[in-house]
Amino acid sequence: MDAARSWAGAVAVRRGRIVYVGPDTFPPGLIGPHTEVVDVQGGMLLPGFQDAHVHLIDGGVELGDCDLSEAESAAAVAAAIRRCASAQRGRPWIRGSGWQLPYFPDGNPKKELLDSLVPDRPAFLWAADGHSAWANSRALAQAGITRETPDPPNGRIERDPRTREPTGTLRESAAELFDRVLPARTDAEFAAGLDRAQRLALSFGLTTIFDADVQEPELRGYADADHAGRLQLRVVAALDGSGSGDTMLARLREWRARYTTTQVRPTTVKLYQDGVIEARTAAMLAPYLDRRGDAGQPIRDQTTLNAVTRALDREGFEIHVHAIGDRAIRMTLDALEQVAAANGPRDRRPGIAHLELIDPADIPRFRRLGVVANFQARWANGDEYLTKMTEPALGPARSRWLYPIASVARTGAVVAGGSDWSVSSLDPLEAIEVGVTHREPGDTVTAPWNPAERVDLGTMLAMYTINAAWANHLEQETGSIEVGKAADLIVLDRDLFALPAWRIHEAKVVRTVLEGRTVYRRAAR
Ligand SMILES: [Zn+2]
Repeated sequence: MDAARSWAGAVAVRRGRIVYVGPDTFPPGLIGPHTEVVDVQGGMLLPGFQDAHVHLIDGGVELGDCDLSEAESAAAVAAAIRRCASAQRGRPWIRGSGWQLPYFPDGNPKKELLDSLVPDRPAFLWAADGHSAWANSRALAQAGITRETPDPPNGRIERDPRTREPTGTLRESAAELFDRVLPARTDAEFAAGLDRAQRLALSFGLTTIFDADVQEPELRGYADADHAGRLQLRVVAALDGSGSGDTMLARLREWRARYTTTQVRPTTVKLYQDGVIEARTAAMLAPYLDRRGDAGQPIRDQTTLNAVTRALDREGFEIHVHAIGDRAIRMTLDALEQVAAANGPRDRRPGIAHLELIDPADIPRFRRLGVVANFQARWANGDEYLTKMTEPALGPARSRWLYPIASVARTGAVVAGGSDWSVSSLDPLEAIEVGVTHREPGDTVTAPWNPAERVDLGTMLAMYTINAAWANHLEQETGSIEVGKAADLIVLDRDLFALPAWRIHEAKVVRTVLEGRTVYRRAAR
């Protein structure tokens, strides 16, 4: 993953640094009596993977709740909820996450079903994408949500069209109406969540993660883990950018000062500019075909977005924006363009994440403006989110520009890869395979979805190594196997380039090394 994408046969590490990269044999003097010599045996050595957009600590906390991510139908979701309710008898709330919108008509599960599964306590369950939530009657009552409750700004309470009664699904900011009544998470829950998530991350070969949205408890969780010597990953964190004005800036400066540690870099601010297409909350240039004139609403108008991004940039923060619809993406590019014009040149590397529908006119702007295109390639799989909930609302001409990874990469822009876990799998090899095949991992039968936007394996690997490192301002230190860099390395059990693409996800990380220390080793079978 050096600039020439060269191949080597032997790598030597001393005191956490790469000191030699060369052909198959080591020059004399490098191997001493205490040197550990590792033969990768037909496998492959790569730079440690970097996830450029993940919710690591929150995902770990969620693993301690009711985890619905393995359920593959409405019936399986119901069965999993019933199991959680009986396993978690002592808890005052049932909370969980991971149900999929397409399992329910209109992505709209009903409170009555959840009442039947959890009759005795409030229940509150996030959808896998984190943009919708499902509540039972007790939870709605505790939050005080009735047919009189107005939809909050940028949110929607799904209702019975006749009675206006809430039906149990909450979109976007409407789910925040539960923040007041859900039991607060403890520091112990965050510590346990981080340990859980970190084990998983290291087993997938991740040595650096970009946490795409942290509040103070999450930041404290990362910083405490580093102080206690439990953190075995590099963490770059995007601070929650809600609010406005000087109060927001003061809070962000304070968090940055207080929680910067050796391995934790709270250098970025996260902004949301829209929602998601499935819930019709993404901001589009043209209306959704099934919504009579409705094109979704951006979170901030252009003037406000321009002012916020300028102010954050003046404070030296990097900017990371959630933008999914072509209008939200254009507005964000416009904002980032005026930031550079207003504040003058510096080494800024702003990023836009998700990028589901990019208007073709905006594709060259990533390269021109130096904006990182942060893609979740795992999503380009032609699943029901795309074929049933997205493409019908856009029509074929616009759908051609869904997840245009290849088109953006061809312009020479920096494309980085992120899982968005726990929205989707944390395993980089799954995303790498899907980016190459545009099918579900292992699928050899289905026609590839939107095949023109597939990329090659080398591009996908760069997205999860050197390109993500660049986005994280860590490319001098990590992201490639070059002399002088930190020895953040992984060993895979096979050579990805020798496999048919549909088998990439079968490869296993057998060892993960952070700065020369082995932090994960796969158990021998
Ligand atoms: Zn995210």
